[in-house]
Amino acid sequence: MTTSPESLPNPSGRSATGPNKLSVADYANGIRARQIAIVARALTLVESSNPQHQQQAERLLMQILPFTGAAIRVGITGPPGAGKSTFIEALGLELTQANQRVAVLAIDPSSGVAGGSILGDKTRMPGLAAHANAFIRPSPSAGTLGGVARRTRECMQVFEAADYDVILVETVGVGQSEATVVDLVDCTITLLLPGAGDELQAIKRGLLEFADVIAVNKADDEQEAAAELAACQFRQALGLWRHLDDQGAEDQDSWPRVFTCSAKYRRGVDAIWQAIADRHAEMIAAGSLQERRRQQQLRWLWSAVDDHLRDAVRHHPRVREIRESLEQQVLAGSIPAEAAARQILEAWRTTTAGLQS
Ligand code: GDP
Repeated sequence: MTTSPESLPNPSGRSATGPNKLSVADYANGIRARQIAIVARALTLVESSNPQHQQQAERLLMQILPFTGAAIRVGITGPPGAGKSTFIEALGLELTQANQRVAVLAIDPSSGVAGGSILGDKTRMPGLAAHANAFIRPSPSAGTLGGVARRTRECMQVFEAADYDVILVETVGVGQSEATVVDLVDCTITLLLPGAGDELQAIKRGLLEFADVIAVNKADDEQEAAAELAACQFRQALGLWRHLDDQGAEDQDSWPRVFTCSAKYRRGVDAIWQAIADRHAEMIAAGSLQERRRQQQLRWLWSAVDDHLRDAVRHHPRVREIRESLEQQVLAGSIPAEAAARQILEAWRTTTAGLQS
């Protein structure tokens, strides 16, 4: 499996002119034919910040659009050390054994936010990385969270067009990145540690709003009892005990569901996946999956507009001329931030209008 192409793709999008040059059609055909090397190069194209590559990527994404949407998209979130990569390795291996094609992506906030950790590293999932039906894409290293999310979403489309059945998107639980990942996926698994006192904390943070499955990991060795206790406290805190029927089965509508598991010993992982598969099937039957994805598209549209607008303003020549001095004035307290913002926007607007007329 090759994830870093030897050369940059041909940005022209025209016919191939050399052994390493690919046209949009070459990319699209290679992706559809499940050619790993082409998929890898398409991901690099999609992640490139070169404007010509971006143009080519846009055309590629248009071409493959009809072949996207069939995968189950699942977010895996949780604090550093909860066992996310160990869990993804265990889950991924189970899925590949069941002949599913699995792609793993990561949203890594560590470049922009303190307290994150490097995710999606193939060396952390050696068994899965070596599997022919798995593809692990390390996190794009630079950019704003919004930019990283955009590229992640586009990578997901490449994977879907290449017939991956399951897409796992990993992120570390540091607030904004969790919300971002939820906006990319259909369902979310939140991994927590036993005895970390996370129960009320997690609920306070709004975990209930987005987790479909809460899994207390490391339910093994000396931590098994603590994990069971933590899961119990979660169920109580969530009020799920009310939904238990006579057989002890949880009510079908009660989400999130709480599980314990041991990613290390690969115990309980299958039950968690079954819950996710059930959840997904329920959402499809109720029509809510389609609606969720439609709303995600709409939010994506506006976040893309916001991103491009911000870049256009910040990098505009006239803004560049004045921004440093304005920043210094704001830092010195000699001008209010709001007034400086207005001056920046004014500089951008007048010159942009001038160019257009
Ligand atoms: P991440 O930061 O959430 O990706 O966590 P990792 O998967 O890197 O795991 C952090 C540490 O916890 C590693 O030393 C793992 O070996 C260990 N670990 C992960 N899952 C389990 C588990 O189920 N049981 C035990 N005992 N240790 C685990």
